[in-house]
Amino acid sequence: MIYKRSSALFAEAKQYIPGGVNSPVRAFKAVGGEPIFVKEAKGAYLYDEDGNRLIDYIASWGPLILGHAYEPVLNAIIDKAKKGTSFGMPTEIETDLAKLAVSMLPNIDKIRFVNSGTEACMSAVRLARGYTGKDKIIKFAGCYHGHSDSFLIQAGSGAVTFGSPNSPGVTQGTAKDTLLAVYNDLESVAQLIKANKGEIAAVIIEPVAGNMGCIIPTDGFIHGLRALCDENDILLIFDEVMTGFRLGRGGAQEALGIKADILCFGKVIGGGLPVGAFAANNEIMGYLAPDGPVYQAGTLSGNPLAMSAGLAMLTELNNNPEIFTSLQEKTAHLHIGLSKALDKKGIPYQINRFGSMISVHFTDEPVMDFATSAKGNNDTFKKYFHGMLDQGIYLPPSAFESYFLNDALCYEDLDATIEAVDNLDLS
Ligand SMILES: *Cc1c(COP(=O)(O)O)cnc(C)c1O
Repeated sequence: MIYKRSSALFAEAKQYIPGGVNSPVRAFKAVGGEPIFVKEAKGAYLYDEDGNRLIDYIASWGPLILGHAYEPVLNAIIDKAKKGTSFGMPTEIETDLAKLAVSMLPNIDKIRFVNSGTEACMSAVRLARGYTGKDKIIKFAGCYHGHSDSFLIQAGSGAVTFGSPNSPGVTQGTAKDTLLAVYNDLESVAQLIKANKGEIAAVIIEPVAGNMGCIIPTDGFIHGLRALCDENDILLIFDEVMTGFRLGRGGAQEALGIKADILCFGKVIGGGLPVGAFAANNEIMGYLAPDGPVYQAGTLSGNPLAMSAGLAMLTELNNNPEIFTSLQEKTAHLHIGLSKALDKKGIPYQINRFGSMISVHFTDEPVMDFATSAKGNNDTFKKYFHGMLDQGIYLPPSAFESYFLNDALCYEDLDATIEAVDNLDLS
């Protein structure tokens, strides 16, 4: 494939934007080569500035679960835009989206909209601290909760891809309140709770992790976590920015059969526009300004365009829950095909899958946590990534990211992807 125009655009972007990108993982540093500039997209396909067509397995890192330029979402945005784009005053559509989201989640009464997943997680932790009157939080190595200071401690996603899971610029004062546990290791959590008795406000977790590849929690771990939090008056925060409205109408809570105290959303809830949200029961949400003392605000929060996209998206998912089954079946088909193709290569690999999230790891050990994910062979991953890209398949440009299937992908796309793996030389 030819990437002449992308390459020229990247060179120009680098003169004006740090690293040429507005979010680090887009720069392709982990896989080498140069990023591809997108011109437009429709359904499951991206069309780049050089006229190449790519089958997309990222879907904007999750939001576009129904594919690109999905008509009902597009039309909702266009209709709304004609009526003005921002007011800084309440609008009815904010309640419409809140009502729908609350109806899809069994254990929440109220939801507050923000502009990103980062903001949602940051605000959720502030709320948890305000509600419990305690300072410390527990997070898991390799989990990513956005780029706010308290979370850049052994963070996953781009932070680990770029070798700065602990970012400079985060003060020691902030870092000391974030305690680090090991995913799928309940004992590591129990020990931290014991050593910091009465000081922990919340445990925050990706209930199915997607920022160190896709990692599935064991039953004992996730239910044990709920019990540990209850026994110690600690709030359990599910960061469902990735899993919310993707793993089913009720997200990971429904898929795992467990309820958290505070939920964070992003990605799908905005239908491709910048939306985040956090939600809880009336008692906890009552601590939030203007009802309560915990401050949180946003000039563009609840923006009408963003709300219209989110409302159109969640309405589609709520009315057509068979979409989740369809996605799950497509992901299973891909899993089986990838396994068959990779078996023939004679190299060690693992595939993790949950719902419409899937990741391939080039290691012979099961991938259960950050340490086992980090053992993946990155040289093989680079060959795999570029070999697929050369055949028009766009996978996440880092071994620490999950694929996000979108329902516009058809079985021919999946089979073409499997065939592309067959063609690879990974030795
Ligand atoms: C993407 C992501 C975030 C951050 O959301 P942004 O909208 O990028 O700020 C937080 N948590 C998880 C689990 C995510 O996947």
